[in-house]
Amino acid sequence: MRYLDTLDARSVAPSPEAVAALRAFDEPLPAGPGDPAETLRLLDEVGSPATTAMAGRRFFGFVIGGSLPVTLAANWLAGAWDQNTGLYRPTPGTAFLEQVALGWLLEILRLPRGAGGAFVTGATVANLCGLAAARHRVLANAGWNVEANGLFGAPPVTVVVSAEAHPSVTKALGVLGLGRSRVIKVPVDDQGRMRLADFPALSGPTIVCVQLGNVNTGSCDPVAEVCRRARAAGAWVHVDGAFGLWAAAAPSRSHLTAGVGEADSWATDAHKWLNVPYDCGLAFVRDPHALRAAMAITAEYLPTESEFRNPGDFTPELSRRARGVEVWAALRTLGVAGVADLIERNCAQARQFAARLAAAGCEILNDVVLNQVLVAFGDAERTKRVIQGVQEDGTCWAGITVWQGRTAMRISVSSWATTEADVERSVEAILRVAQR
Ligand SMILES: *Cc1c(COP(=O)(O)O)cnc(C)c1O
Repeated sequence: MRYLDTLDARSVAPSPEAVAALRAFDEPLPAGPGDPAETLRLLDEVGSPATTAMAGRRFFGFVIGGSLPVTLAANWLAGAWDQNTGLYRPTPGTAFLEQVALGWLLEILRLPRGAGGAFVTGATVANLCGLAAARHRVLANAGWNVEANGLFGAPPVTVVVSAEAHPSVTKALGVLGLGRSRVIKVPVDDQGRMRLADFPALSGPTIVCVQLGNVNTGSCDPVAEVCRRARAAGAWVHVDGAFGLWAAAAPSRSHLTAGVGEADSWATDAHKWLNVPYDCGLAFVRDPHALRAAMAITAEYLPTESEFRNPGDFTPELSRRARGVEVWAALRTLGVAGVADLIERNCAQARQFAARLAAAGCEILNDVVLNQVLVAFGDAERTKRVIQGVQEDGTCWAGITVWQGRTAMRISVSSWATTEADVERSVEAILRVAQR
């Protein structure tokens, strides 16, 4: 509580002194038991100041928000429960909460009722789950059991991605043996959206990956039209919507995700825009059997032992913490209107950033359609110096990126705690540094 209460008054980045003080942790391994309270004192005294205030109101890095207080408290209670939520039978409470949360998520994100789902560590693993289900289905349709027989001798699978696919999609393709480089890359427009004019003709076992929410611009691929073409060719569409999928929950933004329910699998994060504690990613698959066939520890043909879902049948992990508890707490507390308000508010704050910085003569490199703002302060060297200066100033924190050849400050507004006044204060700090 003290940590959270004092967060607003300190620098968002840790001070160099606080980082240097971490040496206090570098003790010899204790030979015997010590005082738990003393251990916690050291953790707080040395550890807390060396954190970045990601839980605070003016952290605008990496598209990650702070935890809603109710989700942090739910996390503590679920931690006390210590439920290994791989199977339903021994952990009915947490497994049931995840089942409820899954249904609510499908509703709020406008995904097909009855889709399967997995609560995993993040969108990287959610992409892995969706693509593993895709690999199962497209090869099963070609008469090949990939879980049993692997990829040696399997019919080739065509994989189509956008030139702007997130590196976690590329990594998942590598892990799954589909190849990081063995893909068809569709060129993108100036916002990073797939250009349909360059979309390939599809045939044979095919997986198409689309993106909702480009990490730089926030732009979204034309998912409805891609789904139409893929469906006509019998291809599987996987959506990486780590943060952009949440636009579906916001009335003024949902046009960006129109048609998303026509895809076959979806990956998103709860630890980004739903503001639950790390780590929590979400995978959804229209056909739950495809996800289960790819992930269940027992062979796919064995019946599930319980009428309720075993969470571990749908995840890479068997032993796992019940990540769905915080998601349940967030959704139950915010409701449909509260989630919409969170998304709408952050998008409005992003527009506020863009308008104020543009008015002061800074260059905004993207159409601000979601919560992402790319800002250049002249050439690459000057922009780098401004970003470093802003991080050192400590009023707020934003990171660096390169967008289509331009070095830029990337501002992501993703926290429930951020107010208009925080944006104003941050703009003033950024302009103060830039003028220096
Ligand atoms: C953040 C992000 C990911 C990876 O998510 P993690 O939670 O870090 O694993 C994947 N895709 C996109 C578009 C993202 O923004």
